[in-house]
Amino acid sequence: MVVPNEVKDIGIACKRFLFTTEFSGFLILTLFQNELVLSIGIRLFIEAILAAYFYIKCSDSSGSPLQGDDDLELSQLSISTQQRDNSQQESQIPIRNICQECKIIQPFRTKHCTKCKKCIPKYDHHCFWVGGCIGELNHRIFWLFLFFQCLLCFDSLFQFNKQLSLYSIYEEEQKDNKYQYQYFVILLFGAISFGFGLFTGALLLYHTMLIVTGQTTWEHTKRDKITYLKFYPKFYHPYNYGFIVNMKLTFFHNNKQSYWIPPQKDQIQEQCNLFDNKYYSCC
Ligand SMILES: [Zn+2]
Ligand SMILES: [Zn+2]
Repeated sequence: MVVPNEVKDIGIACKRFLFTTEFSGFLILTLFQNELVLSIGIRLFIEAILAAYFYIKCSDSSGSPLQGDDDLELSQLSISTQQRDNSQQESQIPIRNICQECKIIQPFRTKHCTKCKKCIPKYDHHCFWVGGCIGELNHRIFWLFLFFQCLLCFDSLFQFNKQLSLYSIYEEEQKDNKYQYQYFVILLFGAISFGFGLFTGALLLYHTMLIVTGQTTWEHTKRDKITYLKFYPKFYHPYNYGFIVNMKLTFFHNNKQSYWIPPQKDQIQEQCNLFDNKYYSCC
């Protein structure tokens, strides 16, 4: 079987399947013709449109590495790893990595994505659902996509449940079981909505935690391997500026990227937040 180019990415194919099933669920509910139809239809439709809109918008640019002091950067490209390690030990802030593919000194929080073949600023992860990277400029769109997708799934589930109750009342009133087909379809779409709802719900909570604490998925999961994080004490997050600023930097950046200059080592203070403090560290 020849797979069309546009569905070769399994993530995109899965997503298309999900949206198709959600839309089909909504259409089938409409065809069932009972008194909940109009309100359910309009609401689910708006939620599905918003989820689809932010899903498509996710493929917008995740950003490009900011250019710094070019002369200095180019001269650093020739410095050996050993020399760089030595100078890092003497330095008050961590040293930046070199991307051999892009031939640049990476800004802090930047990682080269082998699938996208470029450096991604404030790299979060390469998302196979979206078929691209989530970085500094599209993290907020990704969060909004998760939010509306999750809302759509659980709202659908809630409405499917209401529909089931209605059909069971109809059956009792009419004393026959002619709604078996409707039961089957609703349970099928309910199971799909539940599965995706749990998945997107867990992701939504995780990304909310990351945004609130000023981290990315990459930083949270690979902390021990990231040069600029290893430089600091284990539970210290150099880019956690507090709830308000963290939210502002993620949701209201006006498409402007930051240089993410980390704090000097001798000026850091012990952090204390809901997820990481001296008593426990979440995850
Ligand atoms: Zn690169
Ligand atoms: Zn990527």
